[in-house]
Amino acid sequence: MTETTPECRHWIGDARRYCRALDAVRPYLTGPRCPLHTPAALAGRAESPPGPGWPAGAWSTPSPQSASALFDQRAVASGKRRASVRTYRAAQQAVRERKS
Ligand SMILES: [Zn+2]
Repeated sequence: MTETTPECRHWIGDARRYCRALDAVRPYLTGPRCPLHTPAALAGRAESPPGPGWPAGAWSTPSPQSASALFDQRAVASGKRRASVRTYRAAQQAVRERKS
C-alpha cells in the first residue's frame, strides 16, 4: 500500500476541483474526508458520536497456533501422526524437554 498524506478527496462540483483539505481528515468508506465533507455532513446529519472503540485486550488473546503446534509435536512424538524419522525424533526430544 502506498501511504500518502491524507487529504479530503471530495469533489466540489461547483468549483470543479477536489477539496484537498488537510485538517482533521479521517478515512471513510468513500475515502478520506475533512469534517465538512463527511458522508453525514453531506447528508445533513450530525456526526455519529465516538463509540467505545475496541474492547480492551481485543487482540491480546494468545494465538491458538502455538497450542496446536504443541499438540502436533506430541502427536508426532507418540507416533500417532505420520512424520519422517527425523521429525519424529525431534518431536520426541522436544516433548521430553518440555516434561523435564
Ligand atoms: Zn473536504
